[in-house]
Amino acid sequence: MSEISAKPTAPGGSGDVLVVGGGLVGLSLALALGGAGLRVTVVDRERPAAAADDRFDGRASAIAWGSSRVLRAVGLWQALDRHAQPIRDIRVSDGDSRLFLHYDHREVRLGDAGEAPPLGYIVENRFIRRALYAAVAARPEITLLAPAELLKLDREAGHVSATLADGRRLRAALAIACDGAESPQRAAAGIGVVRWRYEQAGIVCSISHQEPHHGVAHERFLGAGPFAVLPLPDGEDGTHRSSIVWTERADLAPAMLKLSDGEFAAEIEQRFGPHLGRIAVAGPRWSYPLGLLHAERYVAHRLALAGDAAHRIHPIAGQGLNLGLRDVASLAECIVDAARLGLDIGSAGALERYERWRRVDSLMLVGVTDGLNRLFSTDLAPVRLARDIGLGVVNALPPLKRLFMRHAMGMVGDLPRLVRGEAL
Ligand SMILES: Cc1cc2nc3c(=O)[nH]c(=O)nc-3n(C[C@H](O)[C@H](O)[C@H](O)COP(=O)(O)OP(=O)(O)OC[C@H]3O[C@@H](n4cnc5c(N)ncnc54)[C@H](O)[C@@H]3O)c2cc1C
Repeated sequence: MSEISAKPTAPGGSGDVLVVGGGLVGLSLALALGGAGLRVTVVDRERPAAAADDRFDGRASAIAWGSSRVLRAVGLWQALDRHAQPIRDIRVSDGDSRLFLHYDHREVRLGDAGEAPPLGYIVENRFIRRALYAAVAARPEITLLAPAELLKLDREAGHVSATLADGRRLRAALAIACDGAESPQRAAAGIGVVRWRYEQAGIVCSISHQEPHHGVAHERFLGAGPFAVLPLPDGEDGTHRSSIVWTERADLAPAMLKLSDGEFAAEIEQRFGPHLGRIAVAGPRWSYPLGLLHAERYVAHRLALAGDAAHRIHPIAGQGLNLGLRDVASLAECIVDAARLGLDIGSAGALERYERWRRVDSLMLVGVTDGLNRLFSTDLAPVRLARDIGLGVVNALPPLKRLFMRHAMGMVGDLPRLVRGEAL
């Protein structure tokens, strides 16, 4: 892939921050810190060309309005804009019930000018990864070592030293674990987790369809779990496209993946109805196991956790990466503020500020997504009735609806500077 050129692997050395894990969160964090002048080394075990390939990850991410501001602030949006489909409306429905919830972006006005921005954007992960690699390669402050595996991290009194699998050694004031839900560094630091697996799998794929989607994201609750149809930008040939996130019983998902394209499209049409006209599957399908995880601490001596290493949530509300990007914005602010005051960026003070800032928001979403998944995955008649009335009531109460919309946009609470659209 010509636009991807990770810098040549450095022979090892020292920097201000070591980011372990160069996924969407780790690379975004590196850009935020590098943009503020800190020297950052990112270590990731994937080969960048493989991780940015179309076949690596079939996911598209719902990027909340607040998160899009973080991506703008770290200089990524120019490359992403043409791949980003604005979400103008969200329509939530429960099976065949006639009660529904409809979010219209024009109902939320932000800022002094009272603009009504989109609720967020849908962007395919392959485009986010490519933009991240290109932006990282253009920043002299950032060194990406990939593919490279971190074997051992020693957290000493005044610094951390890392040993890579190929024997290279690195030194930094602070290590940040963005190494995913199984985070080896979280485990090595002795940080416990609360976790469970859902008996559900997330099937994802892209579809093309006859009718335009008009920027409407659909979430339909079915017996096995939520079924989401997320609008994508039209293809270059004008084909209308969407991304599917289909929660299915884990034991049934393998059979669904084996269906022919025609049978699979028919299953989608049967669940979603005729809203988009005829549907065709476009490209491969993926299936992800789903689970919940919350770390008991987000920080330890000279170590901070960010992204899925700190929390993993059900994709029911499309908020996992958004939580991670809010970690990025808050952690970068804590570190940069400490550096500007001449303080040790790996000190307990800077890290504890980050932990206090992020835990409430993350814990709330962990609980809300888990509760919603349980509530909408049951077929008990009284529960169905109660939740359908709930959808109808929220839909009929504009102030409550606006509050929920602001939450979904990531514009509630003590917002970090990058989310407010300000420089670090
Ligand atoms: C089906 C599905 C749909 C989703 N949809 C949405 C959505 O619409 N919106 C949204 O906000 N979120 C969504 N999410 C959640 C989102 O995808 C994740 O929260 C996000 O990708 C996590 O990114 P991360 O960088 O924290 O972790 P990861 O992507 O897991 O990255 C971890 C990185 O660490 C590296 N690594 C690990 N250990 C080492 C080591 N020892 N040495 C070197 N490298 C190491 C790995 O190679 C990897 O690159 C969805 C999730 C699923 C499953």
